[in-house]
This record gives sequence, structure tokens and C-alpha cells, in this order.
Amino acid sequence: MTRSVLIDRIGELVTNAPGAADAAESGPGGGLGAGDGPGRFAVINDAALVIEGDRIAWTGPSSRAPAADESVDAAGRAVLPGFVDSHAHLVFAGERSAEFAARMAGRGYAAGGIRSTVAATRAATDADLRAGLRRLAAEMLAQGTTTFECKSGYGLTVEDEARSVALAAEATGEVTYLGAHVVPAEFEGDAGAYVDLVCGPMLDACAPHARWVDVFCERGAFSVDEARAVLTAGRARGLIPRIHASQLGPGQGVLLAVELGAASADHCTFLTDADVAALASAAPSPDAAGTVATLLPGAEFGTRQPYPDARRLLDAGATVALASDCNPGSSYTSSMPFCIAVAVRDMHMTTSEAVWAATAGGALALRRSDVGYLAPGARADLVMLNAPSHTYLAYRPGVPLVHAVWQSGTRPPH
Ligand SMILES: [Zn+2]
Repeated sequence: MTRSVLIDRIGELVTNAPGAADAAESGPGGGLGAGDGPGRFAVINDAALVIEGDRIAWTGPSSRAPAADESVDAAGRAVLPGFVDSHAHLVFAGERSAEFAARMAGRGYAAGGIRSTVAATRAATDADLRAGLRRLAAEMLAQGTTTFECKSGYGLTVEDEARSVALAAEATGEVTYLGAHVVPAEFEGDAGAYVDLVCGPMLDACAPHARWVDVFCERGAFSVDEARAVLTAGRARGLIPRIHASQLGPGQGVLLAVELGAASADHCTFLTDADVAALASAAPSPDAAGTVATLLPGAEFGTRQPYPDARRLLDAGATVALASDCNPGSSYTSSMPFCIAVAVRDMHMTTSEAVWAATAGGALALRRSDVGYLAPGARADLVMLNAPSHTYLAYRPGVPLVHAVWQSGTRPPH
């Protein structure tokens, strides 16, 4: 028999529950269940929640909490859906702190820095890469991230990309094939031949391990035509497109994402009016999976670039996600609370918009209907803060506020 756990005396329960605006309480039979996916930002104050197995069974006011096999006293703390980090590069070797220090001393950032990580990654053993990935995944979990996406992209040979996606698949179901991260040095001056490799033998080797295909569409990386070729080839193999676009300057990548039905256009730092309009019209709805605008403030922090204009996207009606972009070059943070704090302080998102973007927004960017919200049927992935409300994530930046994490209904050992 499945054991149930009641978490009681929750000061503020962030639910993002579908239909939550109409009902303060929900439970089996209430018309909500698995498959609905997240709704709008919503909270229940003085709340309780019941976990059964790996799922949420009940949420509602503490005064009406049902009995359970075991109970946990939240003592007024806030409980949120686990963070969904929909953009991370975790399979790599080496580090680039000297490059970061030089950049902070005034040197510019260009896409080519990726090549130094490629050299270190090719030289690393599987065991080294696996250990690094596990360390970062543990770091994420300790900070409340219960679902993460992981890209390849530092191998850039058939063999090294294939082992990168295979290693990523050991750690997450959200694996992205990013053979088109940068043109490797040995293909300098012949990007076309490299794109052929990415769309051919490399895709054949990687597709069985991946759910997504991604491309770095940027000056210094891949043109829009090359990006279209990569995403179209991936889609033909059953992978769903996502894209790195408009990080370093305006380009055609965002429009390409919408044209191809990509799940997400990521970075979105330099957007045209047409980009914003396209993202607004492609916002996910109950009828269409759509394209999410995923903002990665860690990258702007780490490269001292201007932050993306989240308000412009939100006010236009686009769906915004926040993700870490964790990688050793431009954004070596695994912290969603850090991204939330920056998004609130410097990208003018409200605290509720930022928390929604880091949970429900990430779930939509990964087309997941089981995470990013807390309602009956959702996966029991949740974060308890050492704070009474979600606002503290931005109000107390840099402070380790995560008190406890449940992943699929269990508390991972610390
Ligand atoms: Zn990235």
C-alpha cells in the first residue's frame, strides 16, 4: 500500500494549479488531474498538502487537511513546486575561471570560448564527465531544482557527442542534442561540412538518447539557414526543436523557432518587435504546445551584457521561462534562486512572475504536464523554504533558503 505524507501548517503554498483561480481547494474528483499541466501563478495561504507515492494527492487549507500515514510540520514555511531548469549544459570537463576574470577586467565575450571546453571534454574519460554531471545535478537538487534539461555540445565529434547524450540520459529524461553548438576548430572555414555531419552521422548516433535538438544560432556560431537545416533534420528523427537565439545580437533565430514549432527560444536578449510579436502569438495554450521565451540571466550576469527585456515579452503576452544556462563559460551557476533574484531586480519581473517562470514556465518549455505545479496528479516535486513566502527568493538574494526538497515524493539524502 502506498504511504501518504501530510505536509501541514504551510505558510504559503505556491500551486500554479490549473483552474486555481476558481477554487481554493482541489482534490480527487475536483476535475483536476494528471495531464492538465500548470496553470497561472496561484497560492494558498495557511495550507496543507498530501503526497501519495510519487504524486500530489490533495492540496487545500490547513483547517481541512485529511489524515495521512505520516505528517510533517512546515511551521509556517513556504512550499513551492520544485524548480524546472529547462536549459543547462552539464556534460563537460575543465573550467574557465581565468576567462571569466579576464572578461570582468574588460575583455569581450565571443562564442569561440566554447572551443577550450571542447578540448578538455574530448580529453576526459567517461568517468570524469559522469562525476562532473553528478556533482552539478546534486548541486541543483540541493537548491530546489527537481527537473533539469541537459545538453550535449562540448564533444563535437560523432563519438564525443554520442557519449555526451548517453551520459546526460543517465541523469535526466530531458536530453538535448546540441552538436551544433559551435563549429569545431578542425572544420574552421568549412561550416557546411560540419553541418552535414551534425545532420547525418552525428544525429544518427545521438537521436536514440535525446528528446530535443538544439542549435546555437548566432554570429560566430551557426547562420539561420544552417540552424534550419539542423533543426529540420532533428525533427525528421523525432526530436523536438529548441534554439539558442539572439543572445549576442539580433538575428533570425527567434522567428525560426516559431516557424518550426520549437518548444522554446532561449536567451532572447536582443529582440526585434517582430520577434516579440511572434513569441506572443506562439505562447502555449491549452490547445497548442507553443513556443516559450526562455530567459537566462546567468549568461548576462557572467558576460556583463544587458539583461533581456522580460517586461516587454510579458506585456506582449509571451510565455516566459527562467533557466540557469549552467555552463563553464558564460553562466557557471546552477542556482534557480539566483536567476529569480536577478530577474526580479534587474529584469523587472514581479516576484510571482519570476517564481512562475522558474517552475511552470520551465515545465511548459519542456512540454511537461506533470511538473511545475502542485495539484492532485502532479509529480510530488516540491521545495520548502526557510522563509514564509516565495518573495524571499528575491528579497534575500544569495541566502541558502532551501530547507527541504521532495523529488517524486521522497526526500533525497543530503
Ligand atoms: Zn545555452
